[in-house]
Amino acid sequence: MANKVLIVGGGPAGTIAALALHSKGVEVEIAEIQDSFGAVGIGVNLQNSPLRALNQLGLVEEILELGHPTPAVHMLTSSGEPLGPPVAPPSLIPNMPPAIAIGRSVLANLFGKKVVQAGIKIRFGQTVRDLSQHENSVTATFTDGSCENYDLVIGADGVNSKTRAMIFGAEKLSTTYSGQLIWRAAAPLGEIDRYLLYNGIGTKIGIVPISKEKMYVFVVQASELEPHRMENRDELMEMRRAMTGFGGVIPEVMKTLEHPVDIRALKSLMVTEDWYRGRVLLIGDAAHACTPHISYGLGMAVEDGLVLAELFGNELGNWSEVLPKFMERRYERCRKVVEASDQLSAWEINPPADRSDYQTLMSRTLMELSQPI
Ligand SMILES: Cc1cc2nc3c(=O)[nH]c(=O)nc-3n(C[C@H](O)[C@H](O)[C@H](O)COP(=O)(O)OP(=O)(O)OC[C@H]3O[C@@H](n4cnc5c(N)ncnc54)[C@H](O)[C@@H]3O)c2cc1C
Repeated sequence: MANKVLIVGGGPAGTIAALALHSKGVEVEIAEIQDSFGAVGIGVNLQNSPLRALNQLGLVEEILELGHPTPAVHMLTSSGEPLGPPVAPPSLIPNMPPAIAIGRSVLANLFGKKVVQAGIKIRFGQTVRDLSQHENSVTATFTDGSCENYDLVIGADGVNSKTRAMIFGAEKLSTTYSGQLIWRAAAPLGEIDRYLLYNGIGTKIGIVPISKEKMYVFVVQASELEPHRMENRDELMEMRRAMTGFGGVIPEVMKTLEHPVDIRALKSLMVTEDWYRGRVLLIGDAAHACTPHISYGLGMAVEDGLVLAELFGNELGNWSEVLPKFMERRYERCRKVVEASDQLSAWEINPPADRSDYQTLMSRTLMELSQPI
């Protein structure tokens, strides 16, 4: 049975694929370019279906303990009036909330700790310089000059994947800028106990509890230009300026925002051909990266690993059977997430004639994604 796998990238896709494959008896290694497990950004919302997937690895109790339940998204006008009913997909795990928000680095540390406890080999500070494919194996050459043979190499190295560039060509697949920027910062939780989404014209603000003490605040705003680095830029002031004019809890929250502020362009990418070439497969954002309009990118990334491991178990490690079946199971689902997120982003810039289309698409997509995978 073929069973030695290298995973390039120790983010959510890589660590969860490693744990899931390890649980099926696969010998897994991770090459993570950073010196430790970590994550950029403040918080992340895990929806019902990724929680169902993570429950298979026994991780949901700890995620709930470290995070904060987000049973519904409360849609509000810019002044804080309710805007239709809350968006509330069903829970898929008995006695658990349908969604949980958590600090990014807290989640990365949890996944990383589980990988270490499982005894999975990690090559920190390293990446793959070259991949050479053979009939029944693939040889990876690492940046320290060492070489090793594997039955499968998985590129889980994120939206700017070098693995993708190596197997598809650098110029062929690139991200698309949505026309929106996001500012993200943490703040003390105070009295807020729910996920609030304020919708203004061209700007929306999310308030998301991520632990018993902290919340994650994000501002999404249309911009023709992508953000660029500037010396002495006051990101906190820019974020506060983008929040000006909103009502409800926003004026108070603005005062308590903490450094650092992360600013980035919202981008998406969908690899529309098979996500593998020979014995190299892409998963997570390397294959399908979405804007965060339904909070599902990380969810799809972790589902990828669980489905791959399930198919590996069913097909007794025959990767030439596993990979096409993996595409059948994953492609449409991930395409749905990327396209719905792109559409919601476009409607935030140019609203649809019938404004209720926005919430209808969001609710319908979340319900469809709640189906068994
Ligand atoms: C603003 C924003 C908000 C979001 N909010 C949510 C949300 O609420 N819910 C949700 O489900 N999703 C959300 N997402 C999406 C989510 O962040 C991504 O889908 C998820 O992080 C993808 O995981 P990944 O492991 O594929 O990639 P990444 O998280 O990018 O991890 C890639 C890993 O690979 C490593 N790496 C990179 N290059 C190399 C290399 N050459 N060699 C070795 N290692 C390498 C990196 O250091 C990193 O550890 C959001 C995204 C954005 C941009």
